[in-house]
Amino acid sequence: AQLEQQVLEALPKGLFIGGEWIETSSTIPVENPAKGAPFAEIADATPEQAVLALDAACDAAASWAATKPRERAELLRRVFDLINERKDIFAALMTMEMGKTFNEALGEVAYGNEYVRWFSEQTCRIAGYNSIAPASGKRILTEKVPVGPVLAITPWNFPLAMATRKIAPALAAGCTVVVKPAKLTPLTTLLFGKILQEAGLPAGVVNIITTNRSGATTGPLISDPRMRKITFTGSTEVGVGLLRQAAGRVLRTSMELGGNAPVVVLADADLDVAVQGAMDAKMRNLGEACTAGNRFIVHESIADEFTKRFTERMAAQTVGYGLDPATNVGPLIDNDQRSKVLELIQDAVDKGGKITTGGNRLDRPGYFMQPTVVSDIQPGARVLTEEIFGPFAPIITFSTEQEAIDIANGTDFGLAAYVFSNDLRTAMRVGDGIETGMVGINTGVVSDAAAPFGGVKMSGLGREGSELGIEEYLETKYYALPL
Ligand code: ADP
Repeated sequence: AQLEQQVLEALPKGLFIGGEWIETSSTIPVENPAKGAPFAEIADATPEQAVLALDAACDAAASWAATKPRERAELLRRVFDLINERKDIFAALMTMEMGKTFNEALGEVAYGNEYVRWFSEQTCRIAGYNSIAPASGKRILTEKVPVGPVLAITPWNFPLAMATRKIAPALAAGCTVVVKPAKLTPLTTLLFGKILQEAGLPAGVVNIITTNRSGATTGPLISDPRMRKITFTGSTEVGVGLLRQAAGRVLRTSMELGGNAPVVVLADADLDVAVQGAMDAKMRNLGEACTAGNRFIVHESIADEFTKRFTERMAAQTVGYGLDPATNVGPLIDNDQRSKVLELIQDAVDKGGKITTGGNRLDRPGYFMQPTVVSDIQPGARVLTEEIFGPFAPIITFSTEQEAIDIANGTDFGLAAYVFSNDLRTAMRVGDGIETGMVGINTGVVSDAAAPFGGVKMSGLGREGSELGIEEYLETKYYALPL
């Protein structure tokens, strides 16, 4: 309760535009999903206020682009240090607005803040190249320049990391930003804005718009001739709509969309490693991650043993409020999300699946449900093609390697995949066969600020993190110089 009070006191109020916090006449409540009750209010921006945020981003663009890389690097480093100093406040806030446990939230602070540190380091490594044109007798000189004002739209599942993964490289590259966080978890982004301000970020370089009307508010920004780029993490459906709008102004786009990660457990897998990997891939962030294991594709010879051990682990989780130290599984984000997960379980069971643990919501306030495993998933079950986003692990068996690969590739998505085998060559061969942006081999976690995060097929465009992450915010400009 004391930590909750500290969090409430730390929160800024209003929209963050041009370095000012601007309160609005209408507000939106923010709920604690463990209590099913509101605990804070945020400003509700109008489309006109969103344009003011873009005005501020444009006013700040030239001077921010002209800052020395070292200055931008040191500013980001100060942000990293400030977030670290307040890691408990950030973590508790994420537990309160999103539901993940305090420990997991601390993990997200470390992970999300690593993007700030990584891109503070990358700031001073931005470089073009020179060459001599083979036939025309010219020098070719290239420079990397910031792409220009960026619109960042972020989801609710990783309130800090999704903001830092976009904003840190944009700032490192010299871009100014308008960010619109998800209305379910806007507070972490607002607190991040306050830290940016404390660290000395010039007014207008980052602007934060919270709103009840996403489409109506971001539409005018995307069609504004001054906007240059949109970076989005969220559902494929919304991403496709944003790509259509972005086409109208030929905007640069980065899209991190849905996933449906296969977890392939081969016959020779070390079962201890595979079960731990399955737990990590499924239960990190309560399954509310686009990298979450969505289909457990297990060799028929070990399926019974794997199911037994995985079921025991899932059944042993303690569900509850994330600020309670005994809890290791929090609530889902809202009732809609919980209903959708329960619907997918029902569908799997209707089509022949067998519940080995869980299957129900908890009868108490908040959006809790039991961690659930369903074995014997049959072809046609919706989970084989739809993203779950919750603590439900469906198990399907296979007999040949090719069959496993075919099942793995049987969706429109291609973000993350996980392969478990004691033979690295076999694991790589299966990895080669899966159409995906990322493969975890004998691990259930692929995310890392130093690694390129992103997908193929309808999972998205572009990469975040790694050396590639900053390129999404840079244009190449070429000068021709006669010799
Ligand atoms: P999820 O809710 O699963 O994270 P969404 O794609 O619905 O995925 O939402 C991700 C982000 O996109 C949120 O910030 C949300 O407010 C925003 N959003 C949703 N619909 C639109 C839209 N039509 N235009 C712009 N942003 C949108």
